[in-house]
Amino acid sequence: PMHADTPRRGIPLHTKILLGLFLGAAAGVAANLFAHDHPALLWIVDNVAYPIGQVFLRLLFMIVVPLIFCSISLGVASLGDLGKVGRIGGKTLAFFLLTTGLAAILGLTLVNLVRPGESLDVGTRTALLAEYADEASEKTAQAATSNFGVNTFVNIIPRNPVDAAARGDMLAVIFTALIFGIALTRIAIDRAAPVMRVLEGIGDTIMVVIDLAMRIAPFGVFGLIFSVTAKFGFEVLQSLALYVIMVLAALAFHQFVILPTLARVLAGINPITFLKRARAVMITAFSTSSSNATIPTNMEVAQRNFGVPKQIAGFVIPLGATMNMNGTALFEGMTVLFLAQVFGLDLSLAQQAMVVGMCVITAVGAAGVPGGSIPLLVMVLIMVGIPGEGIALILGVDRILDMSRTVPNVTGDLLTSIVITKSEGIPLNMPTDEELRAMDAA
Ligand code: ASP
Repeated sequence: PMHADTPRRGIPLHTKILLGLFLGAAAGVAANLFAHDHPALLWIVDNVAYPIGQVFLRLLFMIVVPLIFCSISLGVASLGDLGKVGRIGGKTLAFFLLTTGLAAILGLTLVNLVRPGESLDVGTRTALLAEYADEASEKTAQAATSNFGVNTFVNIIPRNPVDAAARGDMLAVIFTALIFGIALTRIAIDRAAPVMRVLEGIGDTIMVVIDLAMRIAPFGVFGLIFSVTAKFGFEVLQSLALYVIMVLAALAFHQFVILPTLARVLAGINPITFLKRARAVMITAFSTSSSNATIPTNMEVAQRNFGVPKQIAGFVIPLGATMNMNGTALFEGMTVLFLAQVFGLDLSLAQQAMVVGMCVITAVGAAGVPGGSIPLLVMVLIMVGIPGEGIALILGVDRILDMSRTVPNVTGDLLTSIVITKSEGIPLNMPTDEELRAMDAA
């Protein structure tokens, strides 16, 4: 039989990554408990753990722009006709908005029921406001410059795509790639074919770099998690315990119940299988706090573990990393309402409906980088009459919330790529568990 010939090469990679996560968290928390503020610990974090994490993170970030460009332009060009691109694009956006809206409503409902903001004592509130005042005013200043309006949409078209790429303006990169891919379908096939071959070749090469990055992922994840937990101020967590627990529970519900259920209902995938095969994506998102950094892993997982065709994965996942943020919308909704309760503001149903809308829009607008949504969240706060500086209350715990909300953010993208594949009537080419194990061993 097949498996008799395939040599076992020890622990599969995804298990090693998971191990890196747990060991990193355990070591970091232990170090925090026993050696908090000890110079040796700080030295280890700054000179060992953090650099190792950064090498992993940078390898991922390094390939994001070329990967997005190649996969989207190639995806669009190989879909061929514009009608098809439009249809898939429309369905993708609709699914993004639907799940994001659902997540925001879930968050708001929960905070309405439990009302964690009302039990926060005034002492904690004053202390947190004072402690994070500087950081908060920085975020408020950022919020003031990120004006939403017609120009937000105009700005998606970059004046200079290289500059946009350098600034990490992913929507502009996506737009450039879309136009390029569409244009490619408009020239003679003998002219277009070599360009597509080159794009394909670059894409394949990048896949090798992703593999390399994933090979060091167990150590990178360890380093990232260790540096966060070793330096984290766990006292802040205590003072906001109810809020933090509620956000984490709601994110977990969305991640482990709603998304797998949608996978079951819309794509016929067993919920456990869905989560198991999405593991590498979840861990990468959790340890990097960045949807953008997770694009490479996510594209590979979509194709390899779920059999999503390249054109669809290459189109939906980068788009989703920028636009589809279920976890962020959920977190924003909960935070706006929590802070409203803290500041004694009663938001009417109409106002709350507006908050849902704003959460969806700002989740679409937020950059897929650590803390990308915070300036936009401040904007929503100000809109409903909560002082923008109120963000200070939660900044101390945002690291952990950011890591956690990025997980459903990217899992939603993976799910969308699967659902879109199904909806196009393309059979999912999912390998069996046996076949996956064989691939792991290779
Ligand atoms: N860190 C999140 C992401 O990259 C964005 C955010 O909510 O701050 O998906």
